[in-house]
Amino acid sequence: MVAKIIDGKVVADRIRAEIASSVADYTEKTGYAPGLGVVLVGDDPASAMYVRMKRRACESVGMVSKAEILPASATQEEVENIVRQYNADPNIHGILVQLPMPDHIDEEAVLNLISIEKDVDGIHPINVGMLGMRGREPSFTPATPTGSMILIEETGVQIEGKQAVVVGRSNIVGLPISLMLMNANATVTTCHSRTKDLQGYLKNADIVVAAIGRAEFIKGEWLKEGAIVIDVGSNSVDDPTAKKGYRYVGDVEFESAKDVAGYITKVPGGVGPMTITILLQNTIKAAWNLIEA
Ligand code: NDP
Repeated sequence: MVAKIIDGKVVADRIRAEIASSVADYTEKTGYAPGLGVVLVGDDPASAMYVRMKRRACESVGMVSKAEILPASATQEEVENIVRQYNADPNIHGILVQLPMPDHIDEEAVLNLISIEKDVDGIHPINVGMLGMRGREPSFTPATPTGSMILIEETGVQIEGKQAVVVGRSNIVGLPISLMLMNANATVTTCHSRTKDLQGYLKNADIVVAAIGRAEFIKGEWLKEGAIVIDVGSNSVDDPTAKKGYRYVGDVEFESAKDVAGYITKVPGGVGPMTITILLQNTIKAAWNLIEA
């Protein structure tokens, strides 16, 4: 079997076109564009690059992005004050705190301050808690897990009743994906670094989501024939043939997995393009919520 590729770029472009149209409607109706407020502390080049990408993505759909960039020496109070300003600013509909922050900053305290209605990253404990409670609806769901779910739905395979294995249990990826799959009526097993016999779980999994952070860790022969494989991992590995000297690979060994899986995402070009797209989708949703409230 050769797996069908789930193309995250194609799906993301389709959703972005819908977002751009909704932003145009919103701007015509209100006279102003939806806004995303970003907080970046320190000079980590990767974080600075993510912030630039988010700004460009906002502009590409007609949204406004405002970034407050503080030095690595910023105090807890200075960082919290930016979040408070964004909370109070009627032109900012979504708030994104770029992580990680310098060690001396209490990240949790900063994230807890974000207004639930502007938590477009979906990582406020109340929103994550709602995701895990039956009958509750979070205001927003986190970007990467939401994007991963859309890619699973894109296969057209019914999720209900399937055996799903999520490898990884982080607050921003593994845990929320496990909750979302359970909400979609899959039977979910969440594996992590202390799991014994990971391969035994994977062998029975109809749906596999890999969010580990270890290059090409999951091998094709560990998978069930025909499984849906969503590779969230993004790991840089040395590659002298690449222009930059490195390239990105996922947590799944694509070459061996594609011969066993039924559907698979690539890295890059799978979950990655979905993440920022969902952030934009949450931001336009936040903007509409505000005027419809
Ligand atoms: P974390 O490091 O926070 O979590 C990794 C998880 O993997 C942990 O739960 C850990 O278990 C588990 N794990 C580590 N080693 C093993 C192992 N040998 N066997 C089984 N489980 C293991 O990472 P994130 O969740 O933040 O990110 C995961 C990956 O996804 C990374 O590659 C990251 O770059 C990528 N990512 C991609 C995004 C995108 O847009 N494409 C967005 C966000 C992340 P334990 O809990 O026991 O430590």
